Amino acid sequence: MDLRREEIDRGINAMQALQRLVPEGGLKNRDRVREEMDELISPEFEPYFSANAALHLLVACERCGRCCLEEKGIAVSIDDCRRIARHLGLSLKKFMMEYTRPHDLLGELVGSARMLGKKEGEPCPFFDSSLPGCRIYSVKPQVCTAALYLSKMNLLTCEEQQKIGTFPICSADEKLRARIADYSLRLDEDAEAKSELEGLFASNGPEVELFRLLLRLKGMEIYFGPERAERLARRLGLARVPEDEVLKEAGFLYAATINLLRE
Ligand code: SF4
Ligand code: SF4
Repeated sequence: MDLRREEIDRGINAMQALQRLVPEGGLKNRDRVREEMDELISPEFEPYFSANAALHLLVACERCGRCCLEEKGIAVSIDDCRRIARHLGLSLKKFMMEYTRPHDLLGELVGSARMLGKKEGEPCPFFDSSLPGCRIYSVKPQVCTAALYLSKMNLLTCEEQQKIGTFPICSADEKLRARIADYSLRLDEDAEAKSELEGLFASNGPEVELFRLLLRLKGMEIYFGPERAERLARRLGLARVPEDEVLKEAGFLYAATINLLRE
């Protein structure tokens, strides 16, 4: 069996295995949950949003520190502040006074979010070059968890350009792109495998529909944080948001097939 066939079979098997997560009697409140997701991220941004989620699952930040040094500002939600304050053994108030400042944007959209006290051109206060990287890594802000992809993406730009932009000078991003480009190239040489995959992801088969829903849910977790995604998962009748591992195999095929990365 060649490598392409093996990968395709693994992805399809992984997608079918997702059915095991569905409670007896099927998912609940599907339409209501979809509506709620639509309110959070408009469906017009699909497939970019879900493809970004798939890419996020497939790549691991290499903690080179570039983001921690070069990002203009790091936004933190109130959940982030609580988590980090607890980790540092500080009261929420003390943490906010010592480590945060008001958000750069004003208005309702920002809500209770604030910014870490990082000035442009200076490293994040939690960056420690000797570690390497972040000294609050296990509890870092959601926006840092979502880097590479979701926090860096601009869905409007994705939609205009019909592709997901490169995250420049990021070694992790470069490696993932090379892996996907290599697979896409090999798919181009195998018309049968390519059309099987394209047909699969264009279909409304129950396993593909479930995969897409769970991938979108994963995107919600990456982008909006675990608390919100857990609530959506429970509403669907799922025990929890699926682990990254169970979505990775099919996520790779999805990313390679829809090919929004091509220049
Ligand atoms: S996302 Fe990329 S550039 Fe940023 S710290 Fe991680 S490896 Fe470095
Ligand atoms: S909180 Fe950690 S991961 Fe986020 S920018 Fe600061 S040092 Fe980097």
